[in-house]
Amino acid sequence: MRPIRTRIAPSPTGYLHLGTARTALYSWAYARHHGGRFVLRIEDTDVARSTQEATEQIVAAMHWLGLDYDEGPIHQMSRLERYREVAERLIAEGRAYRCWCTPEELDAMREAQRARGEKTHYDGRWRPAPGKVLPAPPAGVPPVVRFANPAHGSVAWNDLVKGPITIANEEFDDLVILRGDGVPTYNFAVVVDDWDMHISHVYRGDEHINNTPWQINLWRAIAGPDAELPQYGHCPVILGEDGLKLSKRRGAVSVTAYRDLGYLPEAMLNYLARLGWSHGDEELFTREQMVQWFDGSHLAKSPAQWDPAKLAWVNAQWLKRADDARLAGLVREQLAGRGIDAGDEATLARAAGLFKDRCSTVVELADWTAMLFVPVAPSAADLAAHVTPAVRPALRALRDRLAEVEWSREAIGAAFKAVLAAHQLKLPQLAPAVRVRVCGRAQTPSIDAVLALFARDVVLQRLAAV
Ligand code: GLU
Repeated sequence: MRPIRTRIAPSPTGYLHLGTARTALYSWAYARHHGGRFVLRIEDTDVARSTQEATEQIVAAMHWLGLDYDEGPIHQMSRLERYREVAERLIAEGRAYRCWCTPEELDAMREAQRARGEKTHYDGRWRPAPGKVLPAPPAGVPPVVRFANPAHGSVAWNDLVKGPITIANEEFDDLVILRGDGVPTYNFAVVVDDWDMHISHVYRGDEHINNTPWQINLWRAIAGPDAELPQYGHCPVILGEDGLKLSKRRGAVSVTAYRDLGYLPEAMLNYLARLGWSHGDEELFTREQMVQWFDGSHLAKSPAQWDPAKLAWVNAQWLKRADDARLAGLVREQLAGRGIDAGDEATLARAAGLFKDRCSTVVELADWTAMLFVPVAPSAADLAAHVTPAVRPALRALRDRLAEVEWSREAIGAAFKAVLAAHQLKLPQLAPAVRVRVCGRAQTPSIDAVLALFARDVVLQRLAAV
């Protein structure tokens, strides 16, 4: 069997889009499943829009998701010589040719085609043919190089996701492969790279289906008719909740945005994987399970819909399973971002352990934990409902006792019991009043455990306000 080599080839014109992250994940898992190699290639030939910052963001997002690559990042702009060399060879072999059309000429060509009701296309005026006399190259126009795409026949491949696809060559004109400045276009650079990098499987978004015939024709021209091409798998787009293509205008679409919103990488990986792939009815799985299961089968043919509620559920499940000390580190970062110093390690980890069951994101966990460090503002409604005249004397007595006891969950619990007995109250009467005063909300986990997280002074001071 041919060695498995996959790649992800993002363009560094922005963040790592969720759709690209998902195909990166499939490519990575496929390579890992087969003990193959996974390559990161940066397609930076759109010089005006590519930035170093975007490359760094993409690398950081891949790192965060745990998609480790074996080779790269390989920048296409560092391979210009190689593309030129291949283009020259294609020209010498009559498979590509120089075209001196100016942009004005191309506009006029398309205009005339439109006027005749034709689909616009390059009319092949510089394409050499036996007996054809080409015009003299004009001076001062840097020529582009065009690929002499086969004029007839069709291109067929068995798509790993969509099944057999056939597209007629008539649909395709002679693609520019090298621009006037010597920079290759996407379809050409992709083929030279996939060939040089021995890529065996390409997973990418289905917006590239119409590029694939050009790429297959280019492959055959470059590598010979018998070359072993990569197998292509085109994954359907991810739709937003509104059924339209996921877009920045309607919510976060970058991997890093979800990191900042408090999602865990294992949850993101789990959710992205399920969005277009299944293994039985497994909803929660680890990175290792994914690698074990992902053999390229069971990829969905139809578009998946982004479901924030399900993502939140998946994240909540992974939060519950996450190590408390690790969550404490993430909460500390969140709180630092709000200018809050999160105190000692052990207490923060205990707080994370206590609150995590109630949270869907690290941001929510930080919201809960913040009450330990910054003043809370109970609502008037909560105060009126819970801090009633009937419980005020008990609250004062509790405060007095808490001032004396050893500061532990057990001792705090015992103080509650003593006060409840002395004031003939039940815990559901006293606890909400304490919660509202100390925590700023009427519901929390077990009140003795929660109070033990606070510094004693903070509790006494918040209870003193009764
Ligand atoms: N740079 C292309 C993209 O980001 C890569 C497509 C491919 O994988 O061939 O869509």
